[in-house]
Amino acid sequence: MAGLMAGKRGLIMGVANKQSLAWGIAQACAAQGAELAFSYQGEALGKRVTPLAQSVGSDLVLECDVTQPGSIDALFETLRARWGKLDFLVHAIGFSDKNELRGRYVDTSPENFALTMNVSVYSFTAVAQRAEKMMPEGGAMLTLTYYGAERVMPHYNVMGVAKAALEASVRYMAMDLGPKGIRVNALSAGPIKTLAASGIGDFRYILKWNELNSPLRRNVTQEDVGKSALYLLSDLSSGVTGETHHVDAGYHVVGMKAEDAPDI
Ligand code: NAD
Repeated sequence: MAGLMAGKRGLIMGVANKQSLAWGIAQACAAQGAELAFSYQGEALGKRVTPLAQSVGSDLVLECDVTQPGSIDALFETLRARWGKLDFLVHAIGFSDKNELRGRYVDTSPENFALTMNVSVYSFTAVAQRAEKMMPEGGAMLTLTYYGAERVMPHYNVMGVAKAALEASVRYMAMDLGPKGIRVNALSAGPIKTLAASGIGDFRYILKWNELNSPLRRNVTQEDVGKSALYLLSDLSSGVTGETHHVDAGYHVVGMKAEDAPDI
């Protein structure tokens, strides 16, 4: 399988640190020969991302705050000047006020609803618009989602509503961009301890629940996510688009585990 991504150039958006899902994906792609560029949000994260990027041979580390259209434009202008074309894009970005990632969804404020949708949903569409122009011979786009889009998960609240919209946007963009040979997919990862996840109420309980109740009886790792992302970003999935691919140790197929049934 060596060299699966040889000759391919990809932009990785959303590395915050070594625990980031985007970093797992970047490592898997780099190991298969991909040339990578990274975008980060804010100077503090830039200091963390730069050495990580260097460790996979990348010196293209660019700031981008997806709430600022000018910042997205500047990112793609620099990329276009350096590379001309792009083969793949990873969008691993999400944000919501952590005060609203606990308690009831119904109490979500209009301000945080709009912010969550903008950063966690619209930003993928915004970057896809720019990336499309750099993919004249086709390409692959991937975003990260979670099962809280499909079923109610404790504390996930407005992020669940945002992920549902994100998954729908993946299907619409797959249809729009398919004629150009651009594939658009989502990877639905099981819970993994990261900076973003630490904002979700009782996250340790969610981790334990998944470990005990998923068919594989474990949580997934950054490596699991990286390997499946490699499939979705490479020609191995050349016939796949509009898909939400679960990498969750099978948790999404479970209704109820037999040994949990009480004696009746
Ligand atoms: P993370 O904290 O490492 O990554 C989140 C990233 O979003 C950070 O790099 C942050 O800088 C970026 N971001 C937030 N607001 C931004 C903005 N305005 N502009 C640019 N970047 C911005 O956490 P993660 O868990 O690796 O999250 C990556 C993606 O994976 C998210 O979409 C998350 O919802 C999704 N996901 C995570 C899990 C999990 O359990 N960790 C499970 C399923 C899906």
